Amino acid sequence: MIVEVRDLTVRYGAATALDGVTLSVAAGELVALIGPNGAGKSTLVNALCGIRRPASGRIDVRGRLALVPEGRHLFPSLSVDDNLRLGAWRRRERDTAHIYALLPELTPLRDRPAGRLSGGEQQMVALGRALMSRPDLLVIDEMSLGLAPKIVGSLVAHLRQRNAEDGLAVLLIEQNARLALELCTRAYVLEAGRVVAEGPAAALAGSPEIAAAYLGLE
Ligand code: ATP
Repeated sequence: MIVEVRDLTVRYGAATALDGVTLSVAAGELVALIGPNGAGKSTLVNALCGIRRPASGRIDVRGRLALVPEGRHLFPSLSVDDNLRLGAWRRRERDTAHIYALLPELTPLRDRPAGRLSGGEQQMVALGRALMSRPDLLVIDEMSLGLAPKIVGSLVAHLRQRNAEDGLAVLLIEQNARLALELCTRAYVLEAGRVVAEGPAAALAGSPEIAAAYLGLE
């Protein structure tokens, strides 16, 4: 296992945002976490990254973890190249070359201020920055939000390729359940701070309750 979360409870004052959540991601696995607004997805990301302290439970991380945050959080006035360098400050030259080889769409944009890129291009930079640290696991928060299907398709293709070639594991946190269940092999459904369903992505996608609640199908 790269990440093992056991019985995790996180509170904001009197409000319980996560209530006994247990989940794991093994090396090389593609795992989705889906759920509606307010389910606790961002809270889980913050707990995984050590930003939010749990009230109880355990988080074990074995291996390198990198985050592609919701909203991307690039430095808008810095170039694409400088944003990438911020992803791994001890390596730089060799590794930016590696990222441009992995994500060739970024090569013609390398000197452009990140703030002048489209949303999809910015998401590609955020992915490249996270890959700079050569992580074992990428935690990706709301990758597809506001992006055109075509760019989402190319982001997904890149993730599949990194998974197949480098064994990169992904925990994909998405409101777009259809996308998440398509890319991932296993999934968890979070509602009101609890895991209410988990299993192979295909089985969840085929469940009438999940389809009705998350895939817009009756
Ligand atoms: P969204 O997709 O809207 O970000 P989410 O699934 O990420 O939703 P969280 O943001 O983790 O959900 O929120 C889980 C619960 O915790 C919600 O009820 C939310 O109102 C509450 N919450 C989140 N952040 C705080 C905070 N800083 N203080 C108090 N309550 C909070």
